[in-house]
Amino acid sequence: MEEATYIWMNGALVPWGEARVHVLSHALHYGTAVLEGTRAFGTPEGPAVFRLDDHLERLVRSARMIGLALPYTLDELRTATLRTVAANGHPACYIRHLVSRGYGEMGIAARGCPTDVSIASWSWGALLGAGVRLMTSSWRRNDHMVVPTAAKATGPYLNSVLAKDEALRAGYDEAVLLNAAGHVSECTGANLFVVRDGLLATPPSSAGALEGITQDTVERLAADLGLRAVRQELMRSDLYAADEIFVCGTGAGIAHVASIDGRELGGGPGPVTAKLTDAYDDAVHGRDERYRHWLTPVAA
Ligand code: PMP
Repeated sequence: MEEATYIWMNGALVPWGEARVHVLSHALHYGTAVLEGTRAFGTPEGPAVFRLDDHLERLVRSARMIGLALPYTLDELRTATLRTVAANGHPACYIRHLVSRGYGEMGIAARGCPTDVSIASWSWGALLGAGVRLMTSSWRRNDHMVVPTAAKATGPYLNSVLAKDEALRAGYDEAVLLNAAGHVSECTGANLFVVRDGLLATPPSSAGALEGITQDTVERLAADLGLRAVRQELMRSDLYAADEIFVCGTGAGIAHVASIDGRELGGGPGPVTAKLTDAYDDAVHGRDERYRHWLTPVAA
């Protein structure tokens, strides 16, 4: 990875190489951490973080869902995030928040462990290239009756890691996971939309999918473009019958799917995907006044 200079850790900026936790930290053993992935983009006014408060609010909700005490307020986290990006001098970057149960006691219960909070930023390109070759995973999505799937928590990401690994070993770029009931849930690090006859559809969070901020962004952009988008249960065959499929997430941006389980969807992005990609690019780069409220300038 491309190292930056500083990481904010437990209240202070520390040199990149000194942002450490103890090997007996609770989170390392039991997956008790929540995270956020956010991006800052170059805009005419300099770097700005896209939907920062929405990401921080999800972080706070995730921590609450897994019973993790978060020792900072949202205001403090916002200030710390902007300080980190500014200190690292990025024109654009990826930002990773991590709130993890720390070192102090051992054992599942371990109520006396402190909470570690870190904010790192670094330069990171799109996680998926355009023209994603998707496969249906043999792994099922985490079930909401087993873990709170709406929480962006580290433990449950093992499910994504297994599915991604399987897809790469099989020569694909990314996996789509079905849930225990066989309905489409999401990809390993992105939500998914299908387009059919001009209508956009994406699985609801009850299908085991994360409440994606890019998913929400796409829905709002679609509405402003006069396109209809619904959240509904999708079957595997809905993927095969789609005119267009795209995946979306902070890391991936909007990436069109070229094929699903070897079934080709046509060469480039379809017309709906292309329209939404342009609208998204304009929004994140501050080129569309209607969405300026989604951008928090780093310098301010
Ligand atoms: N689903 C999963 C499993 C993810 O890891 C991500 C990335 N955070 C997403 C969906 C997309 O969420 P967002 O648009 O908020 O980045």
